[in-house]
Amino acid sequence: MEFSSKLIEKAVNEMSQLPGIGKRTALRLVLHLLKQPKDQTVFLSQALVAMRQDIKYCGSCHNISDSILCEICANNNRNHQLICVVEDIRDVMAIENTGQFRGIYHVLGGKISPIDGVGPSQLNINSLVEKVKSGTVQEIIFALSSTMEGDTTNFYIYKQIAESEIIISTIARGISVGDELEYADEVTLGRSILQRIPFEKGFKNN
Ligand SMILES: [Zn+2]
Repeated sequence: MEFSSKLIEKAVNEMSQLPGIGKRTALRLVLHLLKQPKDQTVFLSQALVAMRQDIKYCGSCHNISDSILCEICANNNRNHQLICVVEDIRDVMAIENTGQFRGIYHVLGGKISPIDGVGPSQLNINSLVEKVKSGTVQEIIFALSSTMEGDTTNFYIYKQIAESEIIISTIARGISVGDELEYADEVTLGRSILQRIPFEKGFKNN
């Protein structure tokens, strides 16, 4: 792609680094910004810089947060003895949207995947195990996607906490194998949390 302006070229190149944005789309967005009042570009870039610089991760559940504890962990009306284990913050958002879950979360930051070079130590697993061992947890619900990596991760965590006197459950598989939680509709996802099943029963059936 030939550009008559280095400034445009630079903006297009940066924009096209984003997933799903090719050079043509990037050019369209850049030209769109040029047609808008300057302020809009300033607001956009300020919002991005502030988001990147000031974002924090909750010290307890690893959810994205504006303060040391996320809003969910800081909320005393939530059941802090009930922890839903998810892969990433998109799952927190999806489950929150169902309005069916009143516990708190634990965000792993991914799932164990040897092919992608992701081992247990790269995920927020230790802090979860410690939380369980501290005796403040009554129930853990695994809400990872039902892929091989999701199952491996569930089982890895399960082995470390199986000795604890807590209920370990998994979301009901209204969500079919291989589905990502994010794409489940709210009713299905909400129901699959309410109708969760004991974890051991889940893997013995497999
Ligand atoms: Zn939190």
